[in-house]
Amino acid sequence: MKTVYSDAHREHRIEVELYGSELVPCFEQPVRADSVLTQVIAVGLGPVLAPVDHGRRAITSVHAADYVDFLEVAWRDWVAAGGEGDAFSGCAPKSDMSRRVPASIHGRLGYYSFDAGAPITAGTWNAVYAAAQVALTAAAVLANGEASAFALCRPPGHHASKAYLGGYCYLNNAAIAAQSLTDRGMKRAAILDVDFHHGNGTQSIFYDRSDVLFASIHGDPNDEYPYFSGHADETGAGPGVGFNVNFPLPPGTGPGRWLEALAAALSRIRAYRADAIIVSLGVDTFEHDPISSFKLRSDDYLRLGEALRTLRLPTLFVLEGGYALDAIGLNVTNTLVGFET
Ligand SMILES: [Zn+2]
Repeated sequence: MKTVYSDAHREHRIEVELYGSELVPCFEQPVRADSVLTQVIAVGLGPVLAPVDHGRRAITSVHAADYVDFLEVAWRDWVAAGGEGDAFSGCAPKSDMSRRVPASIHGRLGYYSFDAGAPITAGTWNAVYAAAQVALTAAAVLANGEASAFALCRPPGHHASKAYLGGYCYLNNAAIAAQSLTDRGMKRAAILDVDFHHGNGTQSIFYDRSDVLFASIHGDPNDEYPYFSGHADETGAGPGVGFNVNFPLPPGTGPGRWLEALAAALSRIRAYRADAIIVSLGVDTFEHDPISSFKLRSDDYLRLGEALRTLRLPTLFVLEGGYALDAIGLNVTNTLVGFET
């Protein structure tokens, strides 16, 4: 399996985040992607390719142009306004407030955010642009006829919607990859999100469409972030009704129940007769993940890969979350190796 990867992810390095009532070192660190790359090479997964630049248009096929413009200039405007340290959103509008875009960078940060979990720093734009190109290049590998590819993306993307960031996510790499496949004429693409957290951004982007099925297995939003998205009765809108499938699971869910939900999700994808599957591969379902509560063990990721293989579909893996630094490489490559063997 080919891996697509860019060093540009290292330009995005957030110092601290608010966790409970404390400022702690940000869990989403460059070493995450470095560890995955080290393990990809160690297990001999296959060649590691640099991304090809597919341009900005492939990004604005998913994200609003004004939002992408904002991401590109936000750091410059933050510094010009005297901002020191990373640029955090301090507020976000509710639905009964004005929808006008403020001139202030502080106001725009709020306008284009749903939380303070995705600050912007000097290298954020370069890193998120490169991550999107990594996903697009891996999608092109699939479109060229290969059975599988791995987009080693960082930062992750599945919490980012058409015009807002949040939860470590800025551009939705998996959605951009899926859109690039449908833009090439693919009739039915399925996205399976196995990250611990619900992929609210991906759901939102495709919620009213039938050409991209979204299925997600995640912590129940009654208990877990992102709280406002991911219930089982969110099934799509308009032409998309029936093409959004959520499997919320209680805190502490272990491998048995999780693998049952996986089987149900794969059954739905089979019935959809997808032409390809994009896997939003978060491994923060791991038992020792510092910010999540599921109890998957490293061997369970082999089972995940094996189960995905039974679909016999072109399969694109896109890296999302996973914050247990000493296990993220193994858990990701177990999934990929399980798929290949
Ligand atoms: Zn996550």
